[in-house]
Amino acid sequence: MQTIHNYINGTEVPPQSSNYIDLYEPASGKIYGQVPDSDASDVDIAYTAAANAFPTWSALSIDDRSRYLTRIADLIEEKLDELAAAESKDNGKPLWLAKMVDIRRASDNFRFFAQAITQFSSEAHAMTNAINYTLRQPLGVVATISPWNLPLYLFTWKIAPALAAGNTVIAKPSEVTPMTAYLLSDICQQAGLPPGVLNIIHGDGIKVGAELTKHPKIKAISFTGSTRVGGEIARVAAPMFKKLSLEMGGKNPNIIFADCNYDQMLKTTVNSSFSNQGQICLCGSRIFVESSIYNKFKADFIEKAKSLTVGHPNEASTKVGAIVSKPHYEKILACIEIAKSEGGTILLGGEALHPKGYEDGYYIAPTIIEGLSNRCRTNQEEIFGPVVTIMPFNSDQEVLDMANDINYGLSATIWTENLTRAHKMAKEIEAGIVWVNTWLQRDLRTPFGGVKHSGVGREGGFEALRFFTEPKNVCVRY
Ligand code: NAD
Repeated sequence: MQTIHNYINGTEVPPQSSNYIDLYEPASGKIYGQVPDSDASDVDIAYTAAANAFPTWSALSIDDRSRYLTRIADLIEEKLDELAAAESKDNGKPLWLAKMVDIRRASDNFRFFAQAITQFSSEAHAMTNAINYTLRQPLGVVATISPWNLPLYLFTWKIAPALAAGNTVIAKPSEVTPMTAYLLSDICQQAGLPPGVLNIIHGDGIKVGAELTKHPKIKAISFTGSTRVGGEIARVAAPMFKKLSLEMGGKNPNIIFADCNYDQMLKTTVNSSFSNQGQICLCGSRIFVESSIYNKFKADFIEKAKSLTVGHPNEASTKVGAIVSKPHYEKILACIEIAKSEGGTILLGGEALHPKGYEDGYYIAPTIIEGLSNRCRTNQEEIFGPVVTIMPFNSDQEVLDMANDINYGLSATIWTENLTRAHKMAKEIEAGIVWVNTWLQRDLRTPFGGVKHSGVGREGGFEALRFFTEPKNVCVRY
């Protein structure tokens, strides 16, 4: 049994209440650890530590701050195997995926922002008799709140720019997948990060997340998670005039035209549907296929998806691992029942699986559904699991209308070899991110985020550094 601690003022400490939450291994359904059930008293202690650390940290030279971040990136890279094993055990994702994607990206996040801050600059505006220059100053103590689907990846995606910009941070990982955030505490100590610069508080959304949100002195909240919780955070934080970055849910269209590079599309669509058990906010869960290739696509897609091995995350052959938690597993299965009641035909999967030796784990077969309208609940609500629907379309306008006829607007994928069509669709689609003939291809310099109910604000590159700084214009007359 592993016991996780909070990380406050440079040391690992138990929660003030001495209460813990059970931590489950999704692959086996068994309890394997204890997470602090922290509350307002832990948040207060972390706030004091962060506030005390702020004057020195924010006054460090950019090069010095950059060096700390680079050291952390190096240590994450050195511990790739250990961190990937922990992530896979905690989340249920295949071990190879945690190694290839999650942990590498966590290291890249620190390395990227260690470099980005050295290139970050502000504007000057000359007048005939005066010069304006803009200072970009750190905000103070900021909070980050992150989800369970890409645990260390998204945790560090927020922490790295916040620290690089000179803020001190209280970070809350998901209580469902806290292990790699805990291991990061140790890495920060090894990197010699000064006490209080980063504080990690474990616990549930109400006792920790909500306390961070309503804390009167925390200047900004950077949140990634569900639209429901993002809305709750906005309701509480907006009247306090906190800076808010909200990265929320998605129900992304994957639009396939008959003139696409078919093989490339098919291979990528299998990934964009089922990678990480479909638990990526950018997965294309509504698949629109031009009518003339609908039947061919349907047959080929089912064939490919059928060959994905669902199994224990440690097996090298596993393509689809375990769903992150029992409540989420039950939610996905309930969504499949809703799809059936709405008249959907299950073309593949649609059921829980029980691999030998791991019968109590949370496994769901890749599921493909057809016969539903874009307006039904299955196509309008985020499921966040290995479940996709396929729908035929006849014209560019028809598919555009369906793609946009939803509250969400995170990402979209378009498959076509017609350049004019690609640019036109990309312009008209209501989403923060559009991929043409690719998926999940990321350059960390680009703005990342959603529109409508998927997001407020942008992360990534200088957008993140702008979020974590306050611009102040200085006008000097001469
Ligand atoms: P969630 O909203 O339930 O939880 C996210 C975080 O918020 C957790 O740390 C949780 O403890 C905390 N939280 C819960 N209630 C809170 C409250 N009242 N106040 C403050 N914090 C609170 O989301 P989840 O189930 O962990 O993650 C899945 C969701 O995240 C999906 O909707 C997915 O689309 C979304 N997501 C979005 C992006 C993106 O970039 N847009 C990326 C990954 C995941």
